[in-house]
Amino acid sequence: MRCVPPARRAAWRPAVRNGVTCMSLGNCTAGELLHEIQTGQTTAVDVVRAFLERIERYEPQIKAFLYVDAQAALEQAEIIDRRRRNGCALGRLAGLPVAIKDVLCAKGQPTTCASKMLENFRPPYDATVVSRLKAADAVLIGRTNMDEFAMGASTENSAFFPTRNPWNTQYIPGGSSGGSAACVAARLAPLALGSDTGGSIRSPSALCGVTGLKPSYGRVSRYGLVAFASSLDQVGPITQTAEDAALLLEVIAGYDPLDSTSANLPVPPYSQTVRNPLKQLRLGVVREHYGPGLDGEVEQAVRQAVRVFKSLGATVHEVSLPHSKYAVATYYIVSSCEASSNLARYDGVHYGYRTNVKQMLAELEEKRNALRAARDPAALRELDSALVTMYRRTRSEGFGPEVKRRIMLGTYALSAGYYDAYYKKASKVRRLIRDDYHRAFEQVDVIVGPVTPTPAFKLGEKLDDPLAMYLLDLYTVGANLVGLPGMSIPCGFSSAGLPIGLHLEGPPFAEERLLRAAQMYQTVTDWHQRQPR
Ligand code: GLN
Repeated sequence: MRCVPPARRAAWRPAVRNGVTCMSLGNCTAGELLHEIQTGQTTAVDVVRAFLERIERYEPQIKAFLYVDAQAALEQAEIIDRRRRNGCALGRLAGLPVAIKDVLCAKGQPTTCASKMLENFRPPYDATVVSRLKAADAVLIGRTNMDEFAMGASTENSAFFPTRNPWNTQYIPGGSSGGSAACVAARLAPLALGSDTGGSIRSPSALCGVTGLKPSYGRVSRYGLVAFASSLDQVGPITQTAEDAALLLEVIAGYDPLDSTSANLPVPPYSQTVRNPLKQLRLGVVREHYGPGLDGEVEQAVRQAVRVFKSLGATVHEVSLPHSKYAVATYYIVSSCEASSNLARYDGVHYGYRTNVKQMLAELEEKRNALRAARDPAALRELDSALVTMYRRTRSEGFGPEVKRRIMLGTYALSAGYYDAYYKKASKVRRLIRDDYHRAFEQVDVIVGPVTPTPAFKLGEKLDDPLAMYLLDLYTVGANLVGLPGMSIPCGFSSAGLPIGLHLEGPPFAEERLLRAAQMYQTVTDWHQRQPR
């Protein structure tokens, strides 16, 4: 086995919870697991086996995964242990299982985006974040469930099955990265990746009681991320703690020549700085956040979290985001327009699902014959060609209802005569929302608020009401429209025992600041350590 020369880097300092290293592997954070592996108290194989056992036990109730390759994960872990025994240098995440949202390409593994359209798709290449995980010797343990093509907020739009909230399996886990958030909450993997176009990392993290970070636009490569809305999409970590998020972000972040929108900026050593508390932190509380629609228990938990920050020395200032009331409308126009264009590639020709062509041709022939017999040349001329029929059937059968709704919305808003009224107008409002944030960040360092207006709701509750589902994105879409980093950390529970998330937003590329603020909070609170029974 070949060894690469050891890289020079500071060792990861483990978090020692309550003065003892954690005993049960499934209860450890990623940092603690790394420490246990590195100090020889356990092996990569034992860690992977522990999580596979938990998956076997809890996955039937949670259904977080679309695919788990236990054999491949164990083999990968064995190789890592062997390399360690041979004294080879190993990557930052050596032996740690990572669950990947099914929207990120991994060579040879199914990458379905929870859509029938890509049910049999196995990409011939790795997304950049996946190759970075592999280079860091992480163990890819499985592919997590999501809303189809990341469109949704409950994971109920998966073409295969809904995921359930580990805190109460009658409830949704949030979405669209519901599988990743549920799997970290249920400790089926210590680390997961999600994607966030309008809240899809932060919302499910809030509703499942875990830590999720949407990086600034450009911070993490989108190469190999199946595109939903290219000016909004970002990949980011979902973990138990801010420390783990810092570690995972450090591994996946950075310039990538394969993504022209990735920023050519140095990546701060997040995992080393995350424990440095912020001095003189100026927190912004947004006036417009506390209006109708915000659940009382969520508001209380958020206000209590602000008091915790105050006790840590932060000063609190009221700021205004006057155009935030237009954020959801703006987001749904921009994201649907981009989606309608991005999803045009699923045509049944290049790759992905294709309708049954033989049957289609037979039916077309039958129709033609009938029209000929009826001597109806006008109707005959109007019959679609085989190619157009193939496109239509492929897309009608391959996409689910929510994806179709977005394609129709976007196509409508982009069509001649409507473009100015919708897309152009939305782009202008997007600029106003950006200006609001920039003004706010002249006064404060971090904006705090709720992630979602309510805690998780019951499965099926909002399925027939797309507008109610869209309104869940009220607080999260701003960061995407502006390209800001946003983070969700656990800050309490509802009386029904469901988690509540605290939203931290910062100026572009202030991930380090958010992580440090989150870590300060997690040092004096234990919401992030609570586990579902
Ligand atoms: N709920 C939002 C939507 O359905 C966000 C999705 C996302 O961030 N991928 O568009």
